[in-house]
Amino acid sequence: MAGAAALALSSSAFSLTSCSNAGEGKKKAGDSRTLNLSFQEGLTPGQTLKEKLDFIESLGVTGFEPGGRGLAARVDEIKNALEGRMVKVSAICAGFEGFILAEDPAVKKLFDTTMREIIVAAGKLGSTGVIMVPAFNGQKPCKPHTQETRDYLCEQLHDLGEFARENGTTVILEPLNRGECFYMRLVADAAAIARDADSEGVKCMGDFWHMKEETSDYGAFWSAGTKYLQHVHIASRGRRKTPGEDGPLDNYVDGFRALKEMGYDKYVSFECGQVGDPKTVLSAAVDLLRKQWDEA
Ligand code: MG
Repeated sequence: MAGAAALALSSSAFSLTSCSNAGEGKKKAGDSRTLNLSFQEGLTPGQTLKEKLDFIESLGVTGFEPGGRGLAARVDEIKNALEGRMVKVSAICAGFEGFILAEDPAVKKLFDTTMREIIVAAGKLGSTGVIMVPAFNGQKPCKPHTQETRDYLCEQLHDLGEFARENGTTVILEPLNRGECFYMRLVADAAAIARDADSEGVKCMGDFWHMKEETSDYGAFWSAGTKYLQHVHIASRGRRKTPGEDGPLDNYVDGFRALKEMGYDKYVSFECGQVGDPKTVLSAAVDLLRKQWDEA
């Protein structure tokens, strides 16, 4: 945990205030003025990891989010590629096999084994955590949606969270919406399960794309607060493309206001597709988000 905190702090070198003084007059005590952006590996232009990191760095983006699949075998490759750069690993996006609420013990065991391998690698990379969904609607057979299952989930997450904590990282619950994951569809759902898991190693996140059932982006992030909010995903809000590609729909100011007020010091990471030329739209998106962060 100390490692993750230090990582987040060190990544704050590129602050918005260094780019613009707009809005300074409105700054309140305790406000975070730093927007730590991150790109998922898959959406970043470049043939090699080096090219991808060069591109990320060229935009002043400080986070890099790899997938969890095969991560254990890539620890040295990623560590070496990041050496001497201002870019750090943000979160690790899933990549395990099986799922935690599987009825079939063999599928649950597969989750336990592969998730723990990823957690160990995430810890070595100084990641803020490993993202997971307890069960997508399509994953069957799944334990029934009952109080007993919720208790079981919290117990299992407690053990997983303690394992993550011992490895210097966390498990990050990602809420979706009822069309994708009936079990966990609001940031508050995920935060409450993280609370009841009763481990410092269990956290949650918010994804602007999935947050369609939230009545308020601002309220959603605050429902987790800094105690539980460990990561944020972002995409355009009409088609899950790059922020800005859906025009006026792509307004994140309300959510950003909550992040600034709570002093959120982790990452806002791109998880999205692209309609236009990737380099062009990603560069424009970074400008748009910095502008909206300033306005928030
Ligand atoms: Mg996401």
